[in-house]
Amino acid sequence: MKTSSVAELLQSDVTLQQVSLKGWVRTFRSNRFIALNDGSTLHNIQCVVDFENTKEETLKRITTGASVSITGTLVESQGKGQSLEVQVSSLEILGDSNPDEYPIQPKKHSLEFLRENAHLRVRTNTFSAVMRVRSKLSFAVHKYFQENGFNYVNTPIVTGSDAEGAGEMFRVSTFDPNKAPVTEEGEIDYKQDFFGKETNLTVSGQLEAETYAMALGKVYTFGPTFRAENSNTTRHLAEFWMIEPEVAFMDLEGNMDLSEDFIKSVLSYVLEHCKDDLAFLDQRLTQEEKSKPQAQRSDMSLLEKIHFVVDNNFKRVSYTEAFDILRNSKPNKKKKFQYLIQEWGADLQSEHERYLVEKHFKCPVILFDYPATIKAFYMRLNDDGKTVRAMDVLFPGIGEIAGGSQREERLDVLQEKIKAMGIDEKELWWYLDLRKYGTAVHSGFGLGFERLVQFATGMGNIRDVIPFPRTPQNAEF
Ligand code: ATP
Ligand code: MN
Repeated sequence: MKTSSVAELLQSDVTLQQVSLKGWVRTFRSNRFIALNDGSTLHNIQCVVDFENTKEETLKRITTGASVSITGTLVESQGKGQSLEVQVSSLEILGDSNPDEYPIQPKKHSLEFLRENAHLRVRTNTFSAVMRVRSKLSFAVHKYFQENGFNYVNTPIVTGSDAEGAGEMFRVSTFDPNKAPVTEEGEIDYKQDFFGKETNLTVSGQLEAETYAMALGKVYTFGPTFRAENSNTTRHLAEFWMIEPEVAFMDLEGNMDLSEDFIKSVLSYVLEHCKDDLAFLDQRLTQEEKSKPQAQRSDMSLLEKIHFVVDNNFKRVSYTEAFDILRNSKPNKKKKFQYLIQEWGADLQSEHERYLVEKHFKCPVILFDYPATIKAFYMRLNDDGKTVRAMDVLFPGIGEIAGGSQREERLDVLQEKIKAMGIDEKELWWYLDLRKYGTAVHSGFGLGFERLVQFATGMGNIRDVIPFPRTPQNAEF
């Protein structure tokens, strides 16, 4: 007999049929009722054991966490709380689970405790829901780009260019750290290393994606990115997944339109395809909010927040406008901000971004035209000579969810900026070639996939939306 998934069985309208299923016991009560889960859905299916005809020995082994194989009859449930159940005719224990040792007891565990048991936490409702939503979101990302004429490119994970991430990169080397060869000057001789030069894990696939956009027109990357920044926040990981579209002949306006349309599209997809999981996560968040002081509570539920983003226009505001709003804001005048807004040109901190989104505009905001001095060398210089065509997409609860720009397509201006920022032009010879041969206006952005999953699931800590988080001092599993 074919093994059915719990999701299939719960949707089936044919009862009185023989079924076979496999899964893990969530709970077993009254020596009769197994709540069985196989990961195919949030919901368990109730399997009713005929305890009079089942060996005492077997009944004892039906414990939380054990894996079992069941055959029986799918029938309308007699009890409350479910419409269908399985009347068990035979049950085999596939793998025991010692109830005195199994960490995932059927009770509420703290997220911190579950993080320490990241290999088992996906067996809880919360984490299985989060990971199913994550999977659907990642499919939605590919679906959006594929249906809109983008080509998926895989940019390298080991990179030889450190133009972007100076100081924040993880070194890749095959040297024995105690016996690395040195030059006559006493410095480590990377010429003798595996790649014959210093190499690192990538912080972004953008520069390489640009080369592909200048031939394929519309491209996107979706892959792992690494940052050795020592920021222990709820929004930063050392290893995260980034989505980076890059489009030829598209300016900053088009880039803002693309980011907004993309984000709305993938969130709509999960609203449509993850109804049960999102309903559960919505409840979970509402419960969690109740334990917070009134002033810190959000006035919207998770589903309301997602709908709000999908149904409303993102507010587009220049850095200069935002700067004025912030400088004249109450928290700035009352010195409530940790970093006070005084001089035009200052970088905005997360507290400022969140003030703009959550207090002032109360909707997602796209800030654009930032001071050139706080942004990367490749962003296109505006005619004012002071600002660049950069944009950041800011979200409630998250802060920056995406950052991008129109790229500098003029060779002379780009060379000038590279020099001014003290970067060695020779390192970027191939990047400069794009401006020598058929240069064109082009733009793109980078969106942190985990921040998107955080928003869609309402999880407060980014460590809880990736299976095995990598953060400072932590690479277990
Ligand atoms: P932030 O200011 O939040 O640290 P950033 O300006 O350094 O971000 P970018 O270099 O613009 O980030 O990267 C593009 C996107 O990648 C960001 O908008 C964010 O969504 C995501 N991102 C950046 N750093 C991290 C990180 N350490 N962990 C998870 N996501 C990240
Ligand atoms: Mn950024």
